[in-house]
Amino acid sequence: MQLSAENIGVQFSEKKILRGITCKFPAHKRTAIIGPNGAGKSTLLKVLCLLNENFTGRVTLNGGDIRELGRRKISQVIAILPQEKEAPQDTTVKQLANFGRFPHRKFFESTTAEDTRAVEWALEVTKMKNFADRQVASLSGGERQRAWLAMTLAQQPQILLLDEPTTYLDIAHQLDVMEIINAVNKNFGMTIISVLHDINHARIYSDEVVVVKGGEIFATGEPKKVLTAASVEKIFEVKADTFTNSSGVEMVLACN
Ligand code: ADP
Ligand code: MG
Repeated sequence: MQLSAENIGVQFSEKKILRGITCKFPAHKRTAIIGPNGAGKSTLLKVLCLLNENFTGRVTLNGGDIRELGRRKISQVIAILPQEKEAPQDTTVKQLANFGRFPHRKFFESTTAEDTRAVEWALEVTKMKNFADRQVASLSGGERQRAWLAMTLAQQPQILLLDEPTTYLDIAHQLDVMEIINAVNKNFGMTIISVLHDINHARIYSDEVVVVKGGEIFATGEPKKVLTAASVEKIFEVKADTFTNSSGVEMVLACN
């Protein structure tokens, strides 16, 4: 499924939040959305799955306007993990994962064998099987984020939207999350579109980058070509430099 944004504009009262956003999110690839705070990244992600309907322009899935698909159809294809989320009180990990099945379930229909399989699979992929009966509220930050990932994966979307999936996690747990996302892309061909803060995660863990700055597309293309020290300086208005680690991997770091 090819997801594309065509000339997207979003305005809140007088303020233009997004302007003329046109870009493609290639199927089965990992696209990172990068840009400063307030650039409009979360707004764009919400437009892409019609969570925000107040936009001009078009979002298309295989060429068809998503507005014509309707919310239920969209959520059978696209899942989103928003930045801010709150689990209902007294929810277990397994129950949370089950919420991901709602778009596939008919009204009042009970759990099907397919639902059970999808939830089991999601818990397996996110390494949450041993936590299935734990209350979400009792989990550590890393475990909780994996529980939310399990919910979006149980939805079995073809396209997964993630808004800063590693925020608030320590470096080891950040890598856990990036590896899980990587694995679902590699093993199941899931298209990944994630807003990332870490430039080096974007360089290492993505195939394409879309840079948003001031509500507009600043650059798009291959991560290592788009996210050079020179462009990072322009995007974030910092001084940046390139460093090579002991395995020969180049990293770009801000260093004012
Ligand atoms: P980012 O995710 O890149 O940090 P956002 O998309 O969250 O940026 O926000 C972009 C801009 O839009 C910000 O200036 C923010 O204050 C504004 N904004 C976001 N949501 C709303 C809203 N519901 N009403 C008014 N302004 C909003
Ligand atoms: Mg945001």
